[in-house]
Amino acid sequence: MNTRLTVLAGPTAVGKGTISSYIRQHHPEIWFSVSATTRPRRPGEIDGVHYHFVSDDEFDGLIARDEMLEYAVVHGRHRYGTPAAPVRSRLEAGVPSLLEIDLQGARQVKAKMPDALFVFLAPPTWEELVCRLTGRGTESAEEQERRLTTARAELAAESEFDVTIVNDSVRTAAEELIQLMGISTLD
Ligand code: 5GP
Repeated sequence: MNTRLTVLAGPTAVGKGTISSYIRQHHPEIWFSVSATTRPRRPGEIDGVHYHFVSDDEFDGLIARDEMLEYAVVHGRHRYGTPAAPVRSRLEAGVPSLLEIDLQGARQVKAKMPDALFVFLAPPTWEELVCRLTGRGTESAEEQERRLTTARAELAAESEFDVTIVNDSVRTAAEELIQLMGISTLD
C-alpha cells in the first residue's frame, strides 16, 4: 500500500516544532522524517532523533549522491535537507509520514511528489508571529531581523498550499492536521 506524504510548512516561529512535538507524543503511529542539517546541535537534541547532525562535507556528499528529496539553506545560514530513501520506504510500507520543513523545501517536494498533501501552518495574526519571533530570546537582534524578513516572504506563500491550518491552539491545530492525514482519533 502506498500512503500519501504530508508536508507541513509555514513561516519561521509559527510553531511547527510545537505541533510536531505534540504529534510525536500523542500520535506515535505517524513517522517523522529526520532531516540532515549542518547546524550545530542544541542542548537536549539527540543525533539521529531530532536531526542527523552532519558536516558541510557530509552534506555535500548527500547531495552529490542524489540522496536528498529536498534541501535548502534556512535563514541564510545552515543547510537542512530530507533524506529521500527513508521517506520512500515508509510510504511504500503504508506508514503515515510527515515532513516538517521550510517553504523552499516544500516547493522542491511539490515538484518531485505533486500528490503529497501540502499543509500551511499560519499564525493567528502577524503581530502574534512577531511576538513569537522576538520573544523566543535565543537569537541576536540581527538574527531576529533576518527571521522576520524570511517570515514576511513565507506568509505570502500560503496560496501555494492545499490547505491552511491556523495555529491558535497547539492541540486543535495538531488534531486538525491528524484528521487531514486521514487518521482517526478515538478521544
Ligand atoms: P531549527 O534550526 O530551529 O531546528 O529549524 C529551522 C528551520 O529549518 C525550521 O523552519 C524547519 O522547518 C526547517 N527545516 C528543518 N528540517 C528541514 C529540512 O529537512 N528541509 C528544509 N527545507 N527545512 C528544514
